[in-house]
Amino acid sequence: MTSNSTSKSKKKFPLHLKILVGMLLGVVFGIVMIGVGSPSKEEIAEVKKNKNFLENTVDDLHAAQAELVLINDALATSNAPLEKFQERERLQKKIGELSNRISDLEKVSRVNASAGKQFVIDWIKPWGKIFVSLLKLIAIPLIVASLLKGISDLKDISKFRKIGGRSILIYVGTTIVAICIGLLAVNIAQPGNGISDETVKTMTDTYAGNSGIVSKLETADSQLNSGPLDFIVDMVPSNLFGALGDNGNMLQVIFFVIFFGIAMLLIPEDKSKPIKDFFDGLNDIVLKMVDLIMLGAPYAVFALLATVVVSSESPEILYALIWYGLTVVFGLLIMIGFYLMLVGLVVKKNPLWFLKQLAPAQLLAFTTSSSAATLPVTMERVEEHLGVEKEVSSFVLPVGATINMDGTSLYQAVAAVFIAQALGVDLTLMDQMTIILTALMASIGSAAVPGAGMVMLVIVLQAVGKFSPEQIAIGLTLIFAVDRPLDMLRTTVNVTGDATVSMIVAKSLGKLGDPHPKEWDDNIENLHQG
Ligand code: ASP
Repeated sequence: MTSNSTSKSKKKFPLHLKILVGMLLGVVFGIVMIGVGSPSKEEIAEVKKNKNFLENTVDDLHAAQAELVLINDALATSNAPLEKFQERERLQKKIGELSNRISDLEKVSRVNASAGKQFVIDWIKPWGKIFVSLLKLIAIPLIVASLLKGISDLKDISKFRKIGGRSILIYVGTTIVAICIGLLAVNIAQPGNGISDETVKTMTDTYAGNSGIVSKLETADSQLNSGPLDFIVDMVPSNLFGALGDNGNMLQVIFFVIFFGIAMLLIPEDKSKPIKDFFDGLNDIVLKMVDLIMLGAPYAVFALLATVVVSSESPEILYALIWYGLTVVFGLLIMIGFYLMLVGLVVKKNPLWFLKQLAPAQLLAFTTSSSAATLPVTMERVEEHLGVEKEVSSFVLPVGATINMDGTSLYQAVAAVFIAQALGVDLTLMDQMTIILTALMASIGSAAVPGAGMVMLVIVLQAVGKFSPEQIAIGLTLIFAVDRPLDMLRTTVNVTGDATVSMIVAKSLGKLGDPHPKEWDDNIENLHQG
C-alpha cells in the first residue's frame, strides 16, 4: 500500500538525487577526515628524517652482517688471533643494537597516515565493498535469468540473429567514433608535450615498486603473451562452474546461456515450458533482489567516495597530469554529447529525459568504476524507465557491459598518444590508425572492472611497435596517479553507451515500448507487490 504522503516524499527525493547527496557527503566527509589527526609539518619532517636515518641504519646493519660472515670464516681456521674473537663479540653486539634501532625507527616512520584516513579505511570502506560485492553477486544470476527469458520469449532464432548482429555492429561503430574523438582531442591539446623529462623522472621514481603498478604490469605481461585468437578460445568455457566462479568470465557465461537458450528454442514447447517458467520466476526474484540492494545505494556511494578521497594521490602529482586528465574528460564529454544526439535524432526521444532516467546507473558506474557491478541497475533503468523490451535489453546490455567500452577506448587512445608525446616518440598517421584498431580490440578485451582499461593499454602501446618494454612500463607509471578518477568517468561513459545502443537497437526492431517505472522505494512494505 502506498500512502499519499509516501508518494509525495518519493517525488521529492528520487533515487538519483539521494545517490547524488550520498556522493557529495562522501567527498566532503573524506576531505574532512584526511585533516583529522593528520600529522603536523614538524611531524612529517621528523618522519622523513627518521626514514633517512632508518635507511642508513639498515645499510650499517648489512655492512656489519657482511663483516661478521668474514670474521666467522676467519675464526673457522684453528690459529685465529684473540682479537678476532673480541671483534666478533663487538660485531654481534652492534648487530643486536642496530636491529633494535631499526624496529623502533620503523614504528616511527609508519605514523604518517592521519587518524581520520585510517578511520575511513577501517570503518567506512568495508560498507562500500559489501555493496559492490552484492551487486556483483547478483550480476551473474541476473544475466542467466534475463538472457534466457529474453531468448525464450523470442520464439524464433532469426530474431535473435537480428538483435545480435545489429547490436555488435553498432557497438563497433560507436567505439570507433569514441577512439577518433580521443585521437582528435589529444592531437589538438598535445598534453604530453608540456611534460618535462624531470617530471617523467620524478613520477616514475615515485611509483617505482608501487604494488598497484607492479601488479598491473604483471597482468599486462600475461596479456601480451596470449595468441591472436585467444580471446575467442577464452570465450568458450570448459567448465560451467568455473565460468560462474569468482575468477569466472562474463562472456563465458553469456556464451553458455545463449547456447542453452538456442537449444531451448529448438525443442518442443511443452518440453521447454517448465524450464522457461523456472527462469521467468528466477528473473522476477533476482530483480527484486536488485531493488533491495539499491536501498543501500545512497549510503554505499557515501562510503565508496569517502574511500576514494582519502586514498587519492598527492595534489602535486595530480597537477602535473592535469592537461592529460582534462583532455580525457573533454573527449568523454563530447562522447556523451554524441550519445545524446543519437537519442534525439535516431531514437527520437528527449535527450534530457534519457539522462534523467539513466542517472542512477551512471552515478553508480561513477562510484564503483565497474560496468559489471553496475549492470543490474543499468538493466533495471533501461527496461523499466527507458522502455526497452526485455528481448533486446537482456542480450544487448550484458554483452555491451563486457565488450562495448567507448569511454575506455577513448581513454586508451588519449593515453597512448600522451605517453608518446611525453617520452618523445613520434607517431605517424599509420601509427594512429594502428591505435584505432588496437584500442577497439583492447576495449573489447577489457574486463568490466576497475582499472582494466589501463592494463589493456599495454596492448595498444605494443602494437604501435615504437615503445620498448621499459618505455611501456614508464608510460603506465606516468598515468597511474590519475587512473582512478578517469576510470570513474570512463565507466560512466561505457554504461551510457550500452544504454544508448540498446535504445537504438530496440527502436530499429520496434521493441521500444512505454516506460513502466516502478519507483524505488525506501519503505520495505511497499516493495511487496502482492
Ligand atoms: N572500469 C571500466 C569498466 O568497468 C573498464 C576500464 O576502463 O578500466 O567499464
